[in-house]
Amino acid sequence: MIVRQIWTANSYRNFNYLIACGETGEALAIDPLDHEKCLKAAEKAGWRITQILNTHEHGDHIGGNEALAKKTGAKILAHKNAVGRIPHVSQGLGAGDVVNVGKSVTLDVLDTPGHTMSHVCLLSRGDQRALFCGDTLFNAGAGNCHHGGHPAELYKTFSGQLANLPTSTLVYPGHDYIANNLRFTLSREPDNRPAKELLDKLEDQDPNNAFVTTLDVEREINTFFRLTSPTVIAKLREAFPDLPEKPDQRTVFLKLRELRNVW
Ligand SMILES: [Zn+2]
Repeated sequence: MIVRQIWTANSYRNFNYLIACGETGEALAIDPLDHEKCLKAAEKAGWRITQILNTHEHGDHIGGNEALAKKTGAKILAHKNAVGRIPHVSQGLGAGDVVNVGKSVTLDVLDTPGHTMSHVCLLSRGDQRALFCGDTLFNAGAGNCHHGGHPAELYKTFSGQLANLPTSTLVYPGHDYIANNLRFTLSREPDNRPAKELLDKLEDQDPNNAFVTTLDVEREINTFFRLTSPTVIAKLREAFPDLPEKPDQRTVFLKLRELRNVW
């Protein structure tokens, strides 16, 4: 499996992806908003884009579909509940489905509601797992739930699915938000040294060559995976004095999600 992360340099800070089979040169484009950059990258590598996959239905993820499909003839895949809302989807996806790219790439489909209720993540098989997680999980953060999402569902996705994946899994999100997210982590957990060190390192990173985290790293630097940290809980009580003495993880997650919305 060959992964190409494509920085769109737009104001939403979107990342697009190409996943290619090294044997056949077939490629899958994930959320190819900047269809020209995606096509150029594929041409340069000698790949043929045969499939487009949308992680979810938001405009900054589907906006390149039509132009790219027109130029390549690629078919469009998305969550089964997004069929009809995303134009020209020819294959609806659900949990347990598999997406193949060429001969050598197999991606498992995870049904991951929360950011929207028709959101999929892709998990690659093989020795080095990679998670293409759209707007569900960001580097050092979590997706918002403002536009068709539900925080409680997002928590279930984090705790019931993402937390159980192999810790060495590489994390490929739909946006470059890492610096802002690390600042949020530090506002919630000022004594989080790994987050501080990573922020110092990445403050001015070139998103064309972005740092790729693993779930292991996320457990250290992502507040939404640090729900039992005494500092996180103590700081949270400053904002929410009614917080129980030993809050359950779901409560901590939902309060953090709430705070991030106004921060
Ligand atoms: Zn979105």
